[in-house]
Amino acid sequence: MEIRTIGVVGAGQMGNGIAHVLAQAGYEVLLNDISQESLDQAMATITQNLDRQVSKGKTSGSDRDAALARISTTLTLTDLGPLDLIIEAATERETVKTAIFEDLLPHLGKDTILTSNTSSISITRLASRTDRPERFMGFHFMNPVPVMQLVELIRGIATDEPTYKACLSVVERLGKQAAPAEDFPAFIVNRILMPMINEAVYTLYEGVGSVKSIDTSLKLGANHPMGPLELADFIGLDTCLAIMNVLHDGLADTKYRPCPLLTKYVEAGWLGQKTGRGFYDYRGEVPVPTR
Ligand code: NAD
Repeated sequence: MEIRTIGVVGAGQMGNGIAHVLAQAGYEVLLNDISQESLDQAMATITQNLDRQVSKGKTSGSDRDAALARISTTLTLTDLGPLDLIIEAATERETVKTAIFEDLLPHLGKDTILTSNTSSISITRLASRTDRPERFMGFHFMNPVPVMQLVELIRGIATDEPTYKACLSVVERLGKQAAPAEDFPAFIVNRILMPMINEAVYTLYEGVGSVKSIDTSLKLGANHPMGPLELADFIGLDTCLAIMNVLHDGLADTKYRPCPLLTKYVEAGWLGQKTGRGFYDYRGEVPVPTR
């Protein structure tokens, strides 16, 4: 099945990036949110990011205009019904996602493929609540979407091969690289990345190193572009904790026990860059380690 039209549900930081790259690759995109403010903000962000690509010579002015013309917005979810593929990128809460699918289902064409950009919710469980588990899968972009090359394609237990191939062809047309993953907690990237970040927090908690020495060690000693604590602040410490809890609950292995210091930072509301303080304090000119 050839995909031509794509609906994106949720116009937050992931949804706007997804709409951006899809439109640039030539897809007609309909972006939906429950908030007009989010839709306006998403279009402003996409325009700003495309303008930056033009000024860096990465795209032309006419390609930017054509991409923007391929994106429409709507507050009415059911407008997405006739489209070929839906990528749900709304708030990471299971009740939100299942309500979206329930509202959409009666309006979908029989061949429409449903996908979710969820970072942690079981694809098989989401699929089982729809009328098309075989045409349902995980379409997991990385943040920031226009920059990151990887898309994890997660098969639920019932996902069929034509659905996987159709989604793979979209990833290829975006010029990105797909990593196929089975539907187990946190999939591949976060299954490996989050325990490393959690271990970095334990290393800090046990006093083995300071924030600076831990980040410097991984940057210079393992050639990572960002230190693990700096990266945790970028992702959001609440998100890191939520994913560790998904691993701990889903795999029932003590090796995934969230570090108590990570929990404490989240309880303090020190969630990283987005709140101005995490393992670093971002409120001054330069980030200052908090330990
Ligand atoms: P966000 O908070 O920036 O955006 C969520 C958007 O969904 C908001 O604009 C909100 O108004 C909208 N929304 C809420 N309920 C809705 C509904 N019923 N219908 C339509 N829109 C609705 O969140 P985000 O960071 O963009 O995350 C979105 C999804 O992407 C989540 O599933 C998250 O796990 C996943 N994800 C996030 C990241 C990341 O680094 N932030 C990376 C990969 C995947």
